[in-house]
Amino acid sequence: MTTAAELDAADPLAPFRKEFELPEGIYFVGNSLGALPRAARDHVATEFDRWSSLGVEGHFTGALAWKDYHELLTGPLADLVGARPAEVVAMNALTVNLHLLMISFYRPTPTRHKLLIEAHAFPSDHFAAESQIRQRGFDPTESLVVLSPRDGEETLRTADILSTISEHGDELALVLLPGVQYYTGQVLPMADIVEAAHGVGATVGFDLAHAVGNIELALHDWDVDFAAWCTYKYLNSGPGGVAGAYVHERHVADPDLPKLLGWWGTNPSTRFEMATEFDPIPTIESWQLSNAPILPMATLRASLDIIDRAGGMPALRRKSELQIAHFDRLLEDRLAGRVVNLTPTALNERGCQYALQVVGGNGRHVFEQLEAARVLCDWREPDVIRVAPVPLYNTFEEIDRFVDILDEVTR
Ligand SMILES: *Cc1c(COP(=O)(O)O)cnc(C)c1O
Repeated sequence: MTTAAELDAADPLAPFRKEFELPEGIYFVGNSLGALPRAARDHVATEFDRWSSLGVEGHFTGALAWKDYHELLTGPLADLVGARPAEVVAMNALTVNLHLLMISFYRPTPTRHKLLIEAHAFPSDHFAAESQIRQRGFDPTESLVVLSPRDGEETLRTADILSTISEHGDELALVLLPGVQYYTGQVLPMADIVEAAHGVGATVGFDLAHAVGNIELALHDWDVDFAAWCTYKYLNSGPGGVAGAYVHERHVADPDLPKLLGWWGTNPSTRFEMATEFDPIPTIESWQLSNAPILPMATLRASLDIIDRAGGMPALRRKSELQIAHFDRLLEDRLAGRVVNLTPTALNERGCQYALQVVGGNGRHVFEQLEAARVLCDWREPDVIRVAPVPLYNTFEEIDRFVDILDEVTR
C-alpha cells in the first residue's frame, strides 16, 4: 500500500501548491471557492499601475489593452472545456450567462415548450429556468419538467435521464443539466444526453460550475449547444469572478437566433464609431454586452496560467484519480459503517468532490467538529458534508489528516 508521503513525493503537481495562498487548516472547499493564486496580486497590481499611468488610454495600449483583454482568456478556457476559440468567451457571471443563453436557446412554441432540469438543481438554475418559462408566457407547472433520482436513491441513472428525454419527445424544447451535480458530485453522461436530446429535436445546455477545472470536457465533440460556468470554484478566480460561456460553432453566427445585444458584441473595428447598426462579431463574442471587468479577469489569468503550466486538465485529472483512489481506500478501511459517500464510485461518474453522509444522522454535529478542527469544507442541507481534495493544491497527506479527524469526531 502506497503511503501519502510516497504519493506526495512522486506527485508532479506538488510544486504548484506553493503558488497558492491557503487559509490555515485543511482547505477542502475549492469546489465552493478556489484558493488565491499568489500571482493574482501581481496581475491586479499591473492593472492598477496601467490605470494609474495610462488612464483611459489603457483601453487601447499595449498587449494588455483592456478592449481586447477578454481574448487573453479565450484560449485557456477553450482548452479546459474542449471547445474551439470561437465558441468560448469570458463574460458576466454564471446565472447571467444562463439567462442570456436561454434567450437564444429556449424558444418555446405552443407544441414544444418543455424545459427539463433536475429536481436537485442548484436553486439559481431552477429560478433561471422557471423565470425564463414565465417570460415567454408559459406556465412552469406545465412547462418545467423535473428529473428526480428514484426513491431511496441519491444519484440519477443514465437510463432514467434518457427515457425522460424521449418520453417528453417533441414537447421538449431545452434540456438544462449540470455537468457535475453540485450536491452529490455525480458527473452526468453529457455526450449521451446530447445525443438523446438532439434525437427528439431539443437543444441542450450544461451548467459546468462544478465541472470546469474538475473533469475533462469535450463540449465541441459532444455537440453540446451551449454551456456556462463560473470560475471562482475550481478555476480560482476569486469571489464573484468573471464567468465563462460556450456556444457551439454551428450556432455562433446564426442570424436567426434571438439575442440580447450590447456594444461589446458588435464589430470592434467599428464599435467606437458609435454607429447604431449592429454588426455581430462572428463568434460567441457577439453575446457580449458590456466592456469587460478587467480586475477579476486579471485574477483568472493568474490561475489559468498555473493550470497551463501544470499540464492542463489531463494532468489535474491524473492526480485527481490517484487522490480519489487513496481517499476511497481510507474511507473504506477506517470509516466503513460510520460515513458513506453518496458520490458514484465509477471514475467516469465522479470528479474530485465527495458528498459524505454520517450514518445515524449526526452530520451537522460532525460538520461543526470538523470546522472546529480547522477543516474547511461545507455543509449542504439536508445532510451532506462536501469535501473536495483539489489536485492543483491539496496533498495526499491532507487526505490522511482529514480522515484521522473524521475518524475521531465520528467515534
Ligand atoms: C456555484 C453555482 C452557481 C452560482 O451562480 P452565480 O451566478 O455564480 O452566483 C449557480 N449554479 C450552479 C450549479 C453552481 O454550482
